[in-house]
Amino acid sequence: MIEELSRLPGIGAKSAQRLAFYILHMPKEDVRRLSETLTDAREHVRYCKECYTLTDSEVCPICANAKRNHRQIMVVEDSRDLNAYEKTGEYEGVYHVLHGAISPMQGIGPDDIRLKELMQRLQQTDVDEVIIATNSSLEGETTAMYISKLLKPTGILTTRIASGVPVGGDLEYIDEVTLLRALQGRTTL
Ligand code: ZN
Repeated sequence: MIEELSRLPGIGAKSAQRLAFYILHMPKEDVRRLSETLTDAREHVRYCKECYTLTDSEVCPICANAKRNHRQIMVVEDSRDLNAYEKTGEYEGVYHVLHGAISPMQGIGPDDIRLKELMQRLQQTDVDEVIIATNSSLEGETTAMYISKLLKPTGILTTRIASGVPVGGDLEYIDEVTLLRALQGRTTL
């Protein structure tokens, strides 16, 4: 058990031991529910066929919501960034999840992230604005530049969130106020 737990990211040998002992002292029923939740999530989770976020249905609840503005698409690196923006409760558009960022250093090119899917989506639907909300890391900026170049010929308004987000900052760790400020202060690319 300790061995299995210590394979998880951010869990060292000590934490794994602590978790293992904690689980051993949990009521059997709680342990069963935890393990069922894990198995269930892993088995049913898939990509939303519109925005590619992780979900347990064909189309995620955000894409399925008619009240959202489907003509405004925010491009984020992963589902955790989407969740961070959702927590602000202020963004009414929809998303597109890339599942990564372009990184020549790590050998991750444009074809390794869900960029083709974004371009296909833009051909199939009328969109007023694409907001690029990738991280402000080198990879995030490279990706933003690449997308804005791809979108130039389409004539779709392309904006980038403002740099209220600290350089090198991971979106998921930034507080909601900063995220909102970054969204409201976005600039046209
Ligand atoms: Zn979706």
